Amino acid sequence: MSDGYRQLLDATIQHLEGLKSRGVRHVAIAPETLRALALPPAKLPIADCRLPIKKISVPPSIKIEPAIAVASKKISIPAVAPKVAVSIPKIEITSSSPAKAAAFIALRDRALACVKCPHLAASRTTVVFGVGNIDAQLMFVGEAPGADEDEMGEPFIGRAGQLLTKILLATGLSRADVYIANILKCRPDTPGQSAGNRPPTPEERATCIPYLQEQIDLIKPKAIVALGATAVDGLLGKTLGITKLRGNWQEYRGIPLMPTYHPAYLLRNQSLSEKRKVWEDFLKVMEKLEMPISTKQRNFFLQV
Ligand code: URA
Repeated sequence: MSDGYRQLLDATIQHLEGLKSRGVRHVAIAPETLRALALPPAKLPIADCRLPIKKISVPPSIKIEPAIAVASKKISIPAVAPKVAVSIPKIEITSSSPAKAAAFIALRDRALACVKCPHLAASRTTVVFGVGNIDAQLMFVGEAPGADEDEMGEPFIGRAGQLLTKILLATGLSRADVYIANILKCRPDTPGQSAGNRPPTPEERATCIPYLQEQIDLIKPKAIVALGATAVDGLLGKTLGITKLRGNWQEYRGIPLMPTYHPAYLLRNQSLSEKRKVWEDFLKVMEKLEMPISTKQRNFFLQV
């Protein structure tokens, strides 16, 4: 391999590593560039060697890893275009106040580019900033994105999230009426494990919480529901435990906060009594927000 080729290859890899460390998970590379990369170095005129750098922002996009693998292992590439990665559309942010929407978008853009936890920035697919109505009266705070959320860039869309959506619908609200975020905006990494989740560490929580605080300060909800022990600890720093705290109004930055069980807990424990406990917490929230509550709603999950 010539020195010139090696220098260009190193520069390309360095550039891609830089993008990756800044949270970019996909880059666009033209198919002809990939095919050029697969050619033996000796056959590449120096002008062609520059293609990977120049064409990096041209669609269609492909995953970053294959490009590096191709460049270094010189495997052959089929003539057909490589698999196109799905790009995650940014979740729309609108508000009755353009200044608020602009501040929220600026905050979101800062969070999406965050690399304060280098290990999480390296392992994540997306930064899961939050979703919903930034003028909402009600805000939910969970723990951290799981695999589904990391993949799609939206909080609470996996099994636990679907249950949360169901509970919300039972109150008469939809996801679009509320705002949903997490204590941690990146999926906690699990090196060496192909599956499973772990709670965020105290350091990760402390690093990430300013983003959530800014979200809360901008949204100014009338009530916050903290879902599970990590959310409660992260916001209140309480050590009393979720079992004792749930159902009892707390306060966070002057906003009433209702601790309740995480929906994942209800998936593990499907007893009527646990469902009723969570539902009673939601009834308290509905009362706080002066929402209408029917007799049928009051009686959900009661023993017959
Ligand atoms: N659990 C959480 O706490 N948050 C999510 O976004 C998904 C699952």
